[in-house]
Amino acid sequence: MDKFVVKTPSASSKPKTRSHLPLPITANDRARNYPEGTFHVDDGRLFCSSCNVVVDHLRKFVVDKHLEAASHKRNAEKKDGGKQQTLKTVMNCKTVAQVEKVRICHEWIKMCTTANIPLHKSDNYLMREFLQSRVVNGGATPKCSQLRDYYLFDVYQTKRANLKEIIKNKKVALIVDELSKDEGRYVLDVMAVLLDFDELSPNGNFVAYLLDTHFLNATNNRTVSQAVVKTVHKYGIDFGDVCIFNSDNV
Ligand SMILES: [Zn+2]
Repeated sequence: MDKFVVKTPSASSKPKTRSHLPLPITANDRARNYPEGTFHVDDGRLFCSSCNVVVDHLRKFVVDKHLEAASHKRNAEKKDGGKQQTLKTVMNCKTVAQVEKVRICHEWIKMCTTANIPLHKSDNYLMREFLQSRVVNGGATPKCSQLRDYYLFDVYQTKRANLKEIIKNKKVALIVDELSKDEGRYVLDVMAVLLDFDELSPNGNFVAYLLDTHFLNATNNRTVSQAVVKTVHKYGIDFGDVCIFNSDNV
């Protein structure tokens, strides 16, 4: 605007003529000029519903330019074909956007599991609304069933590999705990505490890592010892490194 003021010093002496600029258009008016679902308005600002970004609604060419952008087209495609897209991404990620989506899903699962948030909370309608409207790429978070079926196992595998590295060649105390009886089966947790003073938690307590959860039909010395041996093998723990074995009388 400054340049108009500077360039027309004589304008003040002339009676004001109508500006050549169109009358300011509101974000709502602009959104109405495009197919439903393309844009939405929040707090007087125009948002692209596919990209979750603010678009300058005052200039039509800026809005049109946004719709022509490759990044917008990718997001719009993702929004339209959400379900099929997710299935494809797991099989083989061909584009950067697909890789990014898988990364978002993995990080979402990590966040939920670390913060003790059940995955089904991702289906909560307010949670979804918040993710879609307020979080960049938040719309990429799929529903709980997809998270569980297509992404959870990958995260589990990665975490297990990390844990395997952590306890490698360390002296450990193995703790076996019978959790609860679920549908007539026994749930057995096998945990490990590192007997290494560098691994103390900030509060000075030992950290117990959950290595494995076994579902057993019965708990006796045979089934429990088999389960423990299985876990010890899975993590490559040397029997000589198991200094303490603790069970709750199972
Ligand atoms: Zn867009």
